[in-house]
Amino acid sequence: MGIVVQKFGGSSVATPEKYRRVARRIAWKKKQGNDMVVVVSAPGDMTDELIERARAITERPSPREMDVLMATGEQISIALLTMALHELGVDAVSLTGPQAGFQTDDHHRAAKIRNIDTTRVRRELAGGKVVIVAGFQGLDEHGDITTLGRGGSDASAIALAAYLNADECQIFTDVDGVYSADPRLVPTARRLDEISYDEILELAAAGAQVMQLRSVELAKQYGVEFEVLSSLAPLPDEGGEERGTKVVAKLSPNNNRIVSGVALDSKVAHITLLGLPDRPGVAYKAFKALGDARINLDMIVQSAGTGCGNGPTADISFTCARDDLDTALEVCNRILPEFPGARVVYDTDVAKVSIVGSGVASNYGVAAKMFEALAEKDINIELITGSEIKISCLVRASRAMEAVRAVHDKFQLGDLEPIVE
Ligand code: ADP
Ligand code: ASP
Ligand code: MG
Repeated sequence: MGIVVQKFGGSSVATPEKYRRVARRIAWKKKQGNDMVVVVSAPGDMTDELIERARAITERPSPREMDVLMATGEQISIALLTMALHELGVDAVSLTGPQAGFQTDDHHRAAKIRNIDTTRVRRELAGGKVVIVAGFQGLDEHGDITTLGRGGSDASAIALAAYLNADECQIFTDVDGVYSADPRLVPTARRLDEISYDEILELAAAGAQVMQLRSVELAKQYGVEFEVLSSLAPLPDEGGEERGTKVVAKLSPNNNRIVSGVALDSKVAHITLLGLPDRPGVAYKAFKALGDARINLDMIVQSAGTGCGNGPTADISFTCARDDLDTALEVCNRILPEFPGARVVYDTDVAKVSIVGSGVASNYGVAAKMFEALAEKDINIELITGSEIKISCLVRASRAMEAVRAVHDKFQLGDLEPIVE
C-alpha cells in the first residue's frame, strides 16, 4: 500500500481492447489500497505517424511545432484510458504533462525535466482519484510545450516516481521484462530476474530499446528502483502474477554472472576524420564543436599517429546516432578547413553489437570470447570500444543479426545457466 506509479507504453494501448485491459490492471492495483498515478504513451505507432505527417508538409519542421504536434498522441491516450476507467466505475482524471507540473528546459524534441510541481497530482490523489498523466511532455520556461526525446514516457514515469517518493514504480511494456537480448531478434533470449542500474544503462546506451537511456540515468540519479513487466500477461484478477525484471541499485550477492546481455544498435553512423594533425588540442577542437551541436558521440577511436610531409597525422573515428549524421557532417565540414589536408568520410551501412555485464572487466578472456564468436562466423570487426562493463564492436549492418546471435550463444546466455569460469 502506498503510492504506485505505473507506465504503459504505446504497444500496451494500441487498440480499444488494450485500453480496457490496461484499465482493469490499474483498477485491480487501486483495489489493493494503493494511490495510483499512471503515465501513458501515445497509442501504437502514433508518434511515428505524426512525424510522417509533418514530413509530408516540410523537410525541416520547426522543433517547437514538432513538439506541439507530437504531444497530441499522449493527450489522446490519457483521455481514452480515463474513459476506460470510468467505464469500470473507477474515479479517474487525466492530466497533460504541463497540468501534472512537468517543467523542462527548452531543448525541443529532447528536453530534460528540470522539476515536477506535484501539487495538482497530490490534490487529485487526496481526492481519491486515479491520476492518468501524459508521458513524454512538459512545459519550458517560456510556456511552450516540449517533448522528452523518443521513448520519453519512461523518463516521465521514473521522474514522477522520484518526485512523489512512490513506493513502487512499474513499467509495463510488450515483453515481460529485460532479456539477455531483444527477444524479437534472439528467440532463445532469457528473462533476467534482476538487473543493476549500470547494466541496464549500458544496455540502453548500446541500443536495447526496452528502456529509454535518459530514464535509466534518472532512476540511478534519484535511486528509483523499478520493475519492467508485461501489460499483455494475464491480469491479476484472472490469476496472473506480477512478475518481471527488477531494476536495482545493486544485484543480489548470489548473482555472479559475467555477461548479462547482448544489444544491437542498427541506427548508428560511423564518421572518420582522416589526416588530422597529431598535436594537442585537435581532438578537443573537433569534439567541442560536435558537443556544442548537441551530438552524442559513442565509440571514439584514434589511430596511432603516422608521419608525413606536413608532420605527424592521426585519424579519429567515432559513431553517432544516424539521425544526427547530417548535423555531424555539417560540423565536421565547418571545422576541417582549420586542418589542411584533413578530410571526412562516413558510413551508414554499419551496426553496433555490444555485450554488457558487471563481470566484463574483471574476468580474463571476455573480449577474446566475443571476438572468437565473430571470427567463427567470419564477421569483420570495424571498431572496438570497451568500458568496465561493456564491449562494443562495429560490424557490417548485413551481418549484425548473425553477430548478435553468435555472441549470445557463445556466452550461453540462453536457456542454459551461464558458465562461470
Ligand atoms: P513501449 O512501447 O512499451 O515503450 P518499446 O517498444 O519502447 O515499448 O520497448 C519494448 C521493446 O524493447 C520490446 O518489444 C523488445 O523488442 C525491445 N527490446 C530490446 N532489447 C530488449 C531486451 N534486452 N529485453 C527486452 N526487450 C528488449
Ligand atoms: N510516444 C513517444 C514515442 O513514441 C514517447 C514514448 O512512447 O515513450 O517516442
Ligand atoms: Mg519505449
